[in-house]
Order: sequence, then structure tokens, then C-alpha cells
Amino acid sequence: MSRAFNFCAGPAALPEAVLRQAQEELLDFRGTGMSVMEMSHRDQVVVELARRAEQDLRDLLGISDDYAVLFLHGGASTQFAMVPLNLMGDNGKADYINTGQWSSKAIKEARRYGDINVAASSEDRNFSYVPPQADWTLSADADYVHYCPNETIGGLEFDFIPEVDKPLVADMSSTILSRPLDVNRFGLIYAGAQKNIGPAGITLVIVRRDLLGRAGASVPAMLNYQIHADNDSMYNTPPTFAWYLAGLVFQWLKDQGGLTAMAAINERKAKRLYDFIDASGFYSNPVEKADRSRMNVPFVLANSDLDKDFLDEAGAAGLHNLKGHRSVGGMRASIYNAVPEAAVEALVAFMADFEKRHG
Ligand SMILES: *Cc1c(COP(=O)(O)O)cnc(C)c1O
Repeated sequence: MSRAFNFCAGPAALPEAVLRQAQEELLDFRGTGMSVMEMSHRDQVVVELARRAEQDLRDLLGISDDYAVLFLHGGASTQFAMVPLNLMGDNGKADYINTGQWSSKAIKEARRYGDINVAASSEDRNFSYVPPQADWTLSADADYVHYCPNETIGGLEFDFIPEVDKPLVADMSSTILSRPLDVNRFGLIYAGAQKNIGPAGITLVIVRRDLLGRAGASVPAMLNYQIHADNDSMYNTPPTFAWYLAGLVFQWLKDQGGLTAMAAINERKAKRLYDFIDASGFYSNPVEKADRSRMNVPFVLANSDLDKDFLDEAGAAGLHNLKGHRSVGGMRASIYNAVPEAAVEALVAFMADFEKRHG
């Protein structure tokens, strides 16, 4: 068996150690004679592993008791609706920062529910920079401020946490757990699991408890944070297997030395790739240096006629899923926590060799 170097943007690579443990426990979960997939979510074994996953996540991110941690269905895209449905109060108004495709989708969805002020946007330069906060036009009466700290498609990442006097809401789908985070700066954080947490099918929400209970009476129970918080995310059947796998990833992160250790590794991986791209006249990345993502590295070839050859040859060399998002073309290497430094080394070596042969 050989494991590919997988640069997929999502669902993304999982740590090999996690997959091996899941494989070992698949048929007989810790002496129960059953797979964890086959157990009731009310079973004490499942309740216990769900609790353990939450506690490990709280330890990793330093999440205080002021916050509820929810494990939900529906992906980050459902949060685009749940956030306004739950956090818009009488004002019915929110500020959004538009830095790319995911922010744009969040804005589009939120507009169904209230008055959305786009307080800043970098659309004028094709989302290649983060608008400095000094230029934002925040509303006095917004119920919350929403932004996407890491734009997965554009490869754009905020290097600061906005200072706002309203609850700050962040779509952290592609950056959560990549480095330490001061959760106390946020009202609500959400993330689809399939980038840096676990397999697709589970979505993490970290919400300050004082923001619970604001949903109107017409909001469906399944879209109400309060109901999920009151039921420990077991109001209905949760995605138990995905929850279990996320828990294994949290334990793996602890074993690696936690988020400070991960941040150092991620920093090295991103620097290695960007330094190589910047030194080359053959590859380029369009994003302002200070605003580049450490998780998603888009790049283009000077001659896009070579794109297909690049992808074919990369695949033959064991380097997979490097095609850029269909909306932007070019290439993208996603280098989440589970992508080892060896994968980045192999990618850089391949890129150098490809350039030598075709440059
Ligand atoms: C992948 C992604 C989404 C969409 O997630 P789904 O789970 O597919 O709904 C939203 N926002 C960001 C930043 C993403 O990377």
C-alpha cells in the first residue's frame, strides 16, 4: 500500500495515524464487538467519546465555559443561514467583509434574512488583498460582524483579528486548528470539518453562550443553536462516525504538541512553497504577501497551455489534487495540518523539475 501526497482543498487529507486507528477499531470498537458506526448515539460509549472530543477541542483552543461547542450537520453552508437566523435581533442588520468566494456566498445567503452592509470588499482587485480595518465602514447598529479569515479558493488570509464592538463571527472552515487562536475575541466561530478537522458531514460551531436564545419563533428547531446547545448536539442523530474521527484528529493534534507546534510546521510548509514560487519566473501567486494563506496556496504557470501537462505529470509523480478551483483555474496546493512537510518538499522538487523541462 502506498499513500499519495494529497493536496485536496476539501474533503482533505487526514492524518495517517488517525486512519490506521479507525481501521484497527472499525469492526470492534474497544471491546464492544460493534463498530462505532453501529451504536446508538445514546449509548454511553458514544456519549463518552463525544464528550472527550469536545474536551480535547476545548483544550486545544483554550475554549472557556462561556462558550458552547456544537457538532452539527449541514456544512459551513448551512451556517451561512443559521448565523443570521440566530444572531439578528430587532435591528435585522449585519456587517459583512467580502474577501472572496466564501464571503460572497455568506453575504448572498444572509441577504435573505436582513439588511446586509458590506463594510469592506477587495473585489476591486480580484480579492488579492485583505482590506485594512481602517478602511471599513461598519454600521453603528449591526447585530454582528461577519468575515472569513481564510478564503480557501483565493488563498487569502487575514493576519489580524478585527477589533469590533459587536459580536465577531468567523467562517474558519479552512484555517481552524492551524495555529493558536484567541477564541475570546469572537462571538461565534464555525467550520465545516472536511478541511482541518475530520471527514465531511460534521460542522463545528463555537458560540458565546450569551448569544444563544435569540432565534425567532419561526426558526426551525434544527437551525436553532439554543436547541442544539441544550441537547449537547444530540437533539437528533448526530453524524457519529464523523464525530468520532474528529475526536481522533484532536487527539492526534495533542500528540503533535498542540497548536503552537502545528503553527510552526504550517509556517515552514507555507514559507517553503511561497519562497520557491516567488523565486521562480515560471510560477506566480497573485496575493499580497502579507495576506497570503498558510493553508491554501494558489499558483499559476506563466504559460497556462502547460496546465494539463503539469497536473498529469504531478499525478504520475504521486502528487494529487493540485488543480485550482474551477472558478479561478491554475493550481492550488492545500497544505492543511495533515499534509506532511515531506509532501511540500516533494511538490517543490517536482515543480523545480517541471520548470527545468518546460521553462
Ligand atoms: C469549504 C468551505 C465552505 C463550504 O463548506 P461546506 O461544508 O461544503 O458547506 C465554506 N466556507 C469556507 C471558508 C470553506 O473553505
